Amino acid sequence: MNKIDAHMHYTGDSPDFLALLEDLNLKMLNVCVVGAVSDRLQDQVHAYQKLAKQFPERYAWCTSFPLPAQEDYATPGDYAARAIAGLEADFNAGAVACKFWKNIGMDARKPDGSFLMIHDPIFTPIYDYLAKVEKPALMHIAEPLACWQPLHDPQNPHYGYYSQNPEWHMYGKPEYPSHQALMDARDHVLAHHSKLHLVGAHLGSLEYDVAEVAKRLEKYPNFAVDTSARLADLTIQNTATVRQFFLDYQDRILFGTDMIQWEPLSTLPDKAREQRIAEFAASYQTSFAYYETDQMLTIRGREVQGLGLPEKVLEKIYWTNAHTWYPGV
Ligand SMILES: [Zn+2]
Repeated sequence: MNKIDAHMHYTGDSPDFLALLEDLNLKMLNVCVVGAVSDRLQDQVHAYQKLAKQFPERYAWCTSFPLPAQEDYATPGDYAARAIAGLEADFNAGAVACKFWKNIGMDARKPDGSFLMIHDPIFTPIYDYLAKVEKPALMHIAEPLACWQPLHDPQNPHYGYYSQNPEWHMYGKPEYPSHQALMDARDHVLAHHSKLHLVGAHLGSLEYDVAEVAKRLEKYPNFAVDTSARLADLTIQNTATVRQFFLDYQDRILFGTDMIQWEPLSTLPDKAREQRIAEFAASYQTSFAYYETDQMLTIRGREVQGLGLPEKVLEKIYWTNAHTWYPGV
């Protein structure tokens, strides 16, 4: 079965990795992320665009745009026009979507000190533009709910990340927007831009309960989600409930992993490169086994039953939905 990993960050250049993709019948959607240093956007654009041109059957890419600088708030129209010009150039060069990252709502501030939220009017022209040219927004807004909770349970799927990245751990930081406030802001965009197709990365940051994802999918026909980096969150919920969620929303869920490899694999010593590729392969096999079989599997040290999804549903989650939500992927 042909598959698309609809959420990856792989700057790639290794023939071994390409061979793995061929083995797995896999195509990747490489996603640009704009952090504090926006020049890194151009590096990602170049790397991803090059891969997509060279191996169009294996790689596609999603672009992004720089966040406003403090002085841009005085002339928001000029800022939006510049962002749109950049996006237009990237769409002409083959990008299939535009990424919005969690620094919106959790890091970037406006001149008055308040957080720049995803429903800020400064983004309105960008949403209107994306809707007009029928390019989707891929939004990673907020973080898992565990980000706002105390770090007491090493079994929690997100314990490792927040213990190692305390700057993103929001528990005990009341000056930061709550998970709810960030979800409300994202939902505001869904409600007010009904022509904009919006894919919520990481199960739309509602990974703790598929019923919460379902509520938004019911309410907003312009919303879909990818599963990237949230496999463990699915496996700790009731298997029958999760399976039913996939059956009910089989047209709105995209398979993704969020695996990251910034450093070119070709620069690694042979052994390290082989090991890294083996890790990728093992991780894909775990995901595929979870979705495809109803066997008992060990995922992150837990015994879990696979979903055993029907072939027709798998085809959608692995392939068709990526084409529907990311036209031209
Ligand atoms: Zn990602």
